[in-house]
Amino acid sequence: MPGLHHIAAWQQEEGKESLMRLYNKVALVTGGATGIGREVCLAFGREGAKVVVNYIGDPKSAEKVVSEIEAAGGTAIAICADVSSEEQVEDMFREIETKWDGVDILVNNAGIYPRKAWHEITGDEWDKVQAVNAKSCFLTSKAAYPYMRSKGYGKIINVTSVTFFRGQKNFVHYVASKGAVIGFTRALSRELGAEGITVNAISPGAVMTEQELLDFPDSSVQEETRLYLEQEQAIPRRQLPHDMVGSFIFLASSDSDFMTGQTLNVDGGWVMH
Ligand code: NAD
Repeated sequence: MPGLHHIAAWQQEEGKESLMRLYNKVALVTGGATGIGREVCLAFGREGAKVVVNYIGDPKSAEKVVSEIEAAGGTAIAICADVSSEEQVEDMFREIETKWDGVDILVNNAGIYPRKAWHEITGDEWDKVQAVNAKSCFLTSKAAYPYMRSKGYGKIINVTSVTFFRGQKNFVHYVASKGAVIGFTRALSRELGAEGITVNAISPGAVMTEQELLDFPDSSVQEETRLYLEQEQAIPRRQLPHDMVGSFIFLASSDSDFMTGQTLNVDGGWVMH
């Protein structure tokens, strides 16, 4: 029989857990080491999920996300896998299964966005962008499906882009891939609705990430971008990765169980529909 103080500590702990919106769910976030994916991983960790931080290349950033989640009392692991490779995606799911019981929440966030004049893009460059941004959503969803089907529950969240709604110069392969993400989201939601699995997309606006600052370090370019976006958006300021997390938690939690096939614009009121 535990002592009273043990019961009080347990109740306190239980209370904390019941406030966590993703408690004990296994959440895989692709491209989770940087930018938007990193913020989503940290937020999911705070909400009690066991987080799989997928990354490619140097493990340092992914390991940092894992340590930050653990330092805050959460649970996480990092797994290296190129999400455009069927073999590597399958290996990643096998690795997750050795640790936890499959995946409950899948966030398809990994993406590449090379800018180039449309007539200079090669066939291989086109294919690579479609493979990393769009085909990956199919590969990971297919790999996650057996686990979600066996539980009769699952959450798939695909990251698209404001550029699909607006069109954008020097980005035809990227914009086309983000359109494919929306098409895939809609079609897959029809396949999975009866099995308790929701499939939705989130469309970020122009999010100021570390990578943007590396790509455009010139302060006058930053200032020009800020002024432009302040005119375009209903909320006149630059969007930060943290601005994205509420919508991801919503679509990952049971609060969104009757919502599927949808695309949420989280862009400060830039594009409206
Ligand atoms: P980011 O470059 O910081 O994040 C992308 C992540 O994907 C990186 O960690 C990268 O290493 C990873 N990645 C790339 N190729 C991969 C592969 N083959 N396998 C596994 N991981 C891979 O940039 P971000 O802005 O945080 O982008 C996240 C998502 O948001 C992307 O899908 C992007 O298209 C989308 N998005 C971003 C913005 C923005 O303004 N930042 C706007 C709209 C949409």
